[in-house]
Amino acid sequence: MAKIHFFEAGYCTHPACVAVRGAGFGACQFPARVFVLEANGRFWLWDTGYAEHFFDASRGIYALYPAITPVFFNPSEHISRQLHAIALNPSDLQGVIISHFHADHIAGLKDFAHIPFIGRRLAFDFLKPLKGLKALKQGFLPNLMPSDFESRFMAVEQFLPKALPEHLCLDEPHAPKTAWALPNSNDEILLVPLDGHAIGQIGAFVLTDKGWELIASDSAWSAQNFLGRPPAKISHLIMHDVPAFYRTLSHLSQWHQRGVAIHLSHELDEKT
Ligand SMILES: [Zn+2]
Repeated sequence: MAKIHFFEAGYCTHPACVAVRGAGFGACQFPARVFVLEANGRFWLWDTGYAEHFFDASRGIYALYPAITPVFFNPSEHISRQLHAIALNPSDLQGVIISHFHADHIAGLKDFAHIPFIGRRLAFDFLKPLKGLKALKQGFLPNLMPSDFESRFMAVEQFLPKALPEHLCLDEPHAPKTAWALPNSNDEILLVPLDGHAIGQIGAFVLTDKGWELIASDSAWSAQNFLGRPPAKISHLIMHDVPAFYRTLSHLSQWHQRGVAIHLSHELDEKT
């Protein structure tokens, strides 16, 4: 059975009510969570969280990004260094899976030499030519991309499509019916589109000894979002496709009701 290992690499702050309607204007910490997926004796990193590269890449016009959501990061939190906690080196990974290209998910890519980067071709092709304000509007900082990114990029669209297990198939026209099986994962990691939050966002169903679990990336900022308390309307400004975001939220709610454990990239810390 596959396993999910949990890490955090930095955090940003913004008002709680942006993420959960009615949660107040107090500043909350939104950790950048990172996962290592283990299946079939192999390991993949799911996103990188923040890294010091973020501060280099957010200069000039790009300084607007941390001005809107202040970022806090301790160098000891580089995910490339935290891998030691599970006795791994960066070179032991099969690849870095990129859920989407927002800066808080790709800031550490430059810490991973030689291994493949796995993500949506649709997203990469859209973002590649963008610079300045157009890039910022997509939450994308071009200087975070390693210079050899394209030569190491593996598009999930080229992976074998596989029917989702019946338990995960929802009776809705927009819900995913097939997934991309992650090569060499023994079909225990199935990648699915989770549309709405950012262009080409993906999630992963992972078959652990508790059953299917879902890495849902930024499809919600808190479990409350899919339990009846959606994010504030102001958050629509940063969504790629608002109707698709709410469709995906409804899918999360149904998977949750079917007992699928859902792991988000930025669980809201309401204690702060
Ligand atoms: Zn995002």
